[in-house]
Amino acid sequence: MPIRIFNTLTRQKELFEPITPGKVGIYLCGPTVYAPSHLGHMIGPVIFDVVKRHLTHRGYQVTLVINITDIDDKLIQQSAVEQCTVAELAKRVTADYWKCLDRLGVQVDHFPHATHYIKEMQSVIQTLIDKGHAYAVGGDVYFDVTTDDDYGKLSNRKLDEMLAGTRKEVSDLKRNAADFALWKGAKPGEPFWESPWGNGRPGWHIECTAMSMALLGETFDIHGGGLDLQFPHHEDEIAQSECCTGKLFARYWMHHGLLQTGGTKISKSLGNSIAMAKLFAAHSAEQIRFFILNTHYRSPIDYEGENPIKAATVGLNRLHTFRERLERILKQPFCELPVTPPPLTDAPMLREIEQSRMRFFEFLDDDFNTGAAIGVLFEMLSPMNRFADEARLETSAATDADRDVLRTAACVFRELTHILGILESKADSTGHHQGLTPKLLDLLLELRNEARKQKNFAIADAVRNRLKEVGVVIEDGPEGSRWKITAEE
Ligand SMILES: [Zn+2]
Repeated sequence: MPIRIFNTLTRQKELFEPITPGKVGIYLCGPTVYAPSHLGHMIGPVIFDVVKRHLTHRGYQVTLVINITDIDDKLIQQSAVEQCTVAELAKRVTADYWKCLDRLGVQVDHFPHATHYIKEMQSVIQTLIDKGHAYAVGGDVYFDVTTDDDYGKLSNRKLDEMLAGTRKEVSDLKRNAADFALWKGAKPGEPFWESPWGNGRPGWHIECTAMSMALLGETFDIHGGGLDLQFPHHEDEIAQSECCTGKLFARYWMHHGLLQTGGTKISKSLGNSIAMAKLFAAHSAEQIRFFILNTHYRSPIDYEGENPIKAATVGLNRLHTFRERLERILKQPFCELPVTPPPLTDAPMLREIEQSRMRFFEFLDDDFNTGAAIGVLFEMLSPMNRFADEARLETSAATDADRDVLRTAACVFRELTHILGILESKADSTGHHQGLTPKLLDLLLELRNEARKQKNFAIADAVRNRLKEVGVVIEDGPEGSRWKITAEE
């Protein structure tokens, strides 16, 4: 089935065809690392992680790159506030960012740091100067937007309107108000690198051009980022890259919606409540991931109401309950089932599952509609539950043949949830029933102690033996009894 992607550049869904057959390069604009991560920083990575998982499942070899902007005005200002170096601040915030992505199950191939690619940036800038697209003035280098006939093609703006709409400051060294900085001369006390145009540092846009080209080539497949980056960031990336190489920069531009509340951007006060440290304290990583994937990536993500993540995870809890049933019947952790299902036999239930599976992939093939794909997962619960009921799979009347049919369906379910990156960990670590197992074991231990006090040793021994069968050992010692889970050791 062909994959179609909504391309911001052409404003329509297009058939996806990679430049090199079998391979896909994706570049996503990453964070400027001056403050700890909040939910807004996680949206792009979670979405593109699923894009990568889906394309990988489709047989492509995918390289996902997310850059780290570790030199910028904001970093310089914040490091002064915190009385540390820019490098120290960047290192600390980057570590926090990586930890968040790791917890959310996001798998990235390269995290290029801007400060490691200064030479590559300078080389692009020099080419632009040589070709007459850029000029050095007063220690800065600017891109001359009037030399690029295509300027404005991504954000659908006309250059003459842009030039008329922006006023040029008297102090400005730029030729045109819309010209943007490729290189910024260093002010006293700022970090700097030597260059043919004087000591300074790169502009923000040139970072992404140099790093994407270095890792993915002069033309690559997919460039992603938040909707707010379309202009000027991505427009400027295109201008400088295409003027430098004379080739198309990225084939497909995918822009994701932003976090919003009541139709507007997140305010400063709400901004604090979406700090990842706070969200991780209140929710499991899986709940946060599920919340992000519930919406189609091109729509804004509404963060409204008392606790939007909790509200969205009612559905996730249903999936957990179902998973627990599967584990009871199959006597195996769901996450240990293979992600490639065995061939489907023609059992009626499996035919239904195959239909759902196809619909799931149709939704993902159609511009990565994760919200609709999640809807298909819920549809799959009924046929599987009905089958388990009718075949009495939780009783001794169950047959191996019926259990195998359910196992095959469960493997399909595992294949699909794995693409979305949910139900990946063992039940206890997801936060769903967090703390319930210890409480239940304490309760059993208490009841057993009660039985022993009443000299009902038959019951006490039965509790101990039955627990041992499921991997829980009770140890009686001088300070009382305690339980130990051995199955996980
Ligand atoms: Zn960028």
